[in-house]
Amino acid sequence: MRPEERKLTYPWGDTLPAPGQTLSVADGVRWIKMPLPFALDHINLWLLRDQVDGREGWTIIDCGISRDEVKHLWEQVFENALDGLPVLRVIVTHMHPDHVGLAHWLCERWNAPLFMSMTDYAIACLWSDPSTSQGMAGPNGAAAAVHFARHGLRDPEAQEQIRQRANYYPDLVPDMPREFIRLMDGDHITIGDRDWRVIVGYGHAPEHVSLYCDTLNVLISGDMLLPRISTNVSVFNYEPEGNPLPRYLDSLRAYDDLPDDTLVLPSHGRPFRGIHERVAQQHAHHADRLREVLDVCTSPKSAADIVPVLFRRELDLHQLTFAMGEALAHLHALYFEGKLKRSVDDQGVVRFMCKSG
Ligand SMILES: [Zn+2]
Repeated sequence: MRPEERKLTYPWGDTLPAPGQTLSVADGVRWIKMPLPFALDHINLWLLRDQVDGREGWTIIDCGISRDEVKHLWEQVFENALDGLPVLRVIVTHMHPDHVGLAHWLCERWNAPLFMSMTDYAIACLWSDPSTSQGMAGPNGAAAAVHFARHGLRDPEAQEQIRQRANYYPDLVPDMPREFIRLMDGDHITIGDRDWRVIVGYGHAPEHVSLYCDTLNVLISGDMLLPRISTNVSVFNYEPEGNPLPRYLDSLRAYDDLPDDTLVLPSHGRPFRGIHERVAQQHAHHADRLREVLDVCTSPKSAADIVPVLFRRELDLHQLTFAMGEALAHLHALYFEGKLKRSVDDQGVVRFMCKSG
C-alpha cells in the first residue's frame, strides 16, 4: 500500500463483495463489484433502497460494460440481492463505458428511467452509434491517431492499433435508452426517504455527477475521487485545445464543505474515509507533476516525451492513450497559465517549452 493510501481508512478492510453478490455499506446502500477487461480490472456499482410512487424497489448507480459476463452477474444480483423487489431507476455518474455500458439493457429489462447529466447523455448517444462514433471525431480510430501523432506518438504499430480501435466505445456501449431524466448541479433527488444532492464535476468527464446524502453522510464519488489511483484527466482529440486539469482541481473544491468523516463510495478501489486528505493528495499530486513537467521543458517536449516523466512503468496501449491524454493535460495547464510556449515542427508535431528557456 502506498503511503498516501495509509492516511485513509477503509471501514471494510480487505472484504469485498463476491461476484454476483452485494455488501451492505450503509443503511439501504449495497456495494456490487463488476469485472472490467483492462489493467483497471473492476468497477464498483451501488444499489440504493428506493420507493417511487408507492412502489418499493431499488435504484442502481452505474451499470458496468456491455458483456455477457456482466449481464450474467447482474442476473445473480437480481436473483439474490434485491429482496425480491424490482429496479425502479438507473442513475449513471458519467458517460465512460464502464459506467454507462449496460444502461440500455438495465433500463429495458426493468422498464426503468435513466438519470444522467445532459452532456454525458448526449455524448454517450452519439458515440454508441458506430456510424457517428467514427465519423464524428469519437474517442478512438482515425481522429485519435491523428491527435496522438500530432503530439509525438508516431510509432507505426501504436498508430495502427489506435486506428483499429474505432469501435471501442460502441463495442462496450452498444446502445442507449432513447430518453432520460436530466440531472444538474445542485439538484436534489429523493431516494427512498433520503435526500441526495447532485454535485457536478469537470475535467474527467464532460459533466460528471456525484451524489451526496447528508443523513447517511455518504458520497458516491464516481471517478472524481478514488482512493488508490488518481482520476484520469486527459486532453482527447475531440477537444484538442481543452484544459481539463484546472477544471478537475476546481471541481474538487465542491467536496471541501462535506464532513471530514464522510464515507466515500468510489467507482474503483475500496470505500474509504478521509475525503479532505484525499482531495489534498490530488492537489499535491498534480502540483508535483506540473513541477516535473516544467522542469523537463527546458528544451522543447511533445506530450509523448512527457509520458515517461509522468508514468515510470510499462504501459499497454489502452494505458498509453490515457497517459498521452494526461501528459497533454499537464502541458496544456502550464501553457494556458502562460508558463510554456508551444511550437509546431515541419512534421506537424507540437512541442512545449518554458517561456524563460
Ligand atoms: Zn470515468
